Amino acid sequence: MAEYKAPLRDMRFLLNDVFDAPRQWASLPGLAETVDPETADAILEEAGKIASGVLAPLNQKGDEEGCHWNDGEVTTPEGFREAYNTFAEGGWVGLGGDPEFGGMGMPKSLVAQVEEMMQGANMAFGLCPMLTAGACLALHAHGSQELKEQYLPKMYDGSWSGAMDLTEPHAGTDLGIIRSKAEPADDGSYRITGTKIFITWGEHDMAENIIHLVLAKLPDAPPGPKGISLFLVPKFIPNDDGSSGERNAFSCGSLEKKMGIKGSATCVMNFDGAKGWLVGEPHKGLMAMFTMMNYERLGVGIQGLGIAEASYQNALAYAQERLQSRSPTGAQEKDKVADPILVHPDVRRMLLKMKAYNEGGRAFITYVAQWLDQAKFSDDAALREKADAMVALLTPVAKAYLTDRGLDSCVIGQQVFGGHGYIREWGQEQFVRDARIAQIYEGTNGIQAMDLMGRKVVANNGKFFEFFASEVADFITENQNDGALEPYIQPLAAAIERLSDVTEHVIKASAEDPTQVGAAAVDYLDLFGLTAEAYMWARMVKAAAPQAESDTSGFYTGKLKTAKFFYDRLLPQSVSLAEGIRAGGQSMMAHTAEEF
Ligand SMILES: Cc1cc2nc3c(=O)[nH]c(=O)nc-3n(C[C@H](O)[C@H](O)[C@H](O)COP(=O)(O)OP(=O)(O)OC[C@H]3O[C@@H](n4cnc5c(N)ncnc54)[C@H](O)[C@@H]3O)c2cc1C
Repeated sequence: MAEYKAPLRDMRFLLNDVFDAPRQWASLPGLAETVDPETADAILEEAGKIASGVLAPLNQKGDEEGCHWNDGEVTTPEGFREAYNTFAEGGWVGLGGDPEFGGMGMPKSLVAQVEEMMQGANMAFGLCPMLTAGACLALHAHGSQELKEQYLPKMYDGSWSGAMDLTEPHAGTDLGIIRSKAEPADDGSYRITGTKIFITWGEHDMAENIIHLVLAKLPDAPPGPKGISLFLVPKFIPNDDGSSGERNAFSCGSLEKKMGIKGSATCVMNFDGAKGWLVGEPHKGLMAMFTMMNYERLGVGIQGLGIAEASYQNALAYAQERLQSRSPTGAQEKDKVADPILVHPDVRRMLLKMKAYNEGGRAFITYVAQWLDQAKFSDDAALREKADAMVALLTPVAKAYLTDRGLDSCVIGQQVFGGHGYIREWGQEQFVRDARIAQIYEGTNGIQAMDLMGRKVVANNGKFFEFFASEVADFITENQNDGALEPYIQPLAAAIERLSDVTEHVIKASAEDPTQVGAAAVDYLDLFGLTAEAYMWARMVKAAAPQAESDTSGFYTGKLKTAKFFYDRLLPQSVSLAEGIRAGGQSMMAHTAEEF
């Protein structure tokens, strides 16, 4: 497998040249004192070293060995514990955490880059700090001061990890029907009983304690999603001095055997009257859990991007070395028996598809992260409200679009390898197996699409969508005389108009027929993602063009050429997606059960 190299150059280009992140950081209260360009640069550099030097070398080994279960105890693949210690000691778990409780308070636009490196280097491992950071966010937003003081410092410093316990054997997407119960105890705590399945890093040997955020129902819970409460349930109940105390009454019943991310433990968790504490208000647990879930959704989108980048690097290295056939324009390397496969148009198509999606995806994540920073740190209430709307709108797109493209990139990379992509040796088949889960967990991509189309677009009559569309329209107006952008302005204008038309069409159609939302949703999300990437590519062209003339590295000239490839060869898919959506859901709903 090719060595993983953190894409630091691209990350710096995005932060500094495209999104002017240092200016945003300096303008936001709470960030101005925390981060400056030098600090950010040092963080990126160090993260790159951990990703390629510590995590990536364990990726293939973790897949081959997997986790081991023995009488409720889970041991991780060789090297994982040491890597986790290095990771935690470096302060990486609490990178974005609140400094009041020991976090480093870094902006999401920077943290997202670090997350991409960790996930790209080792997705199975990366899940553990990702879940911890998400649990911290939910606890920070909804927990009592006492819980925050007791748990957050230990979780930020990585000595305790986090897990998210939603799914039950009969309840995945539909959490309203969970059966886990919480009985109030005399001391103000609760006793949790029930079985949760598929709990990522629910049990392991890397951290001293594991803090589970568990959804369960109180005795007086109304039926459905409005009867769910959220509880903090630690593996070891902390002593007053902060050390891990008595073992709580729950355990890992078994580990799932699964297709990919084998280095991570996917646990069945049995709660037998375990002691827990309420987080937030009774019956409002699903809303509180959404704080964590939204973080994880973006994180899973970042996983899709990270693994797609790893796939690209692996496939590119192979395409530069593998000799097969001659170039259609005549032999390029006459001293060799054949040319490297990189000369072939179809191999270039595959590599450029990956490159264009990945760099567009990285820009999109950075863009969403900047909105998150506005939402969290801005002192302007109106701007915060708009930023919240943008984050709500864009999160399902980031999750589903980037994980769909993530799998695409892994499969395309596999194709570049030919038969060598199908066997273990080159690591490419692992990418395909690992990437697949990102489309499924954290709410399937179908559910993300329903969330986008139904809750984020139709339910508010396109209000959030208008924020996005008018920003793109403003960009077009401001840049229509920019020579470098000339080839892109008109296609971008057409793409945003197409998306706006389709949005209006579905809003109208769904008023008469509620099945139209679900029928349009997945294609709509794809169309949205593609259009958003087109906007990202236009912004990257604007930033790269002035530097391309004197560029000898190939970075900026390559950027401009990749933009052209995206607009010529990928953006046209938006036409067929729009046409499919306009055709409506009739042909999906017409079959009777017998006709399937
Ligand atoms: C490796 C792994 C790790 C996981 N980690 C965790 C974890 O840490 N914590 C946790 O709580 N869970 C975890 N999960 C569970 C995961 O989040 C669920 O599997 C996922 O949300 C889907 O639920 P389900 O499997 O029950 O599928 P179902 O809900 O049964 O869905 C089946 C299909 O029906 C579709 N569907 C369902 N309802 C609708 C609807 N209303 N409209 C349209 N389509 C619909 C779905 O999109 C899907 O295609 C993990 C799962 C795996 C495999």
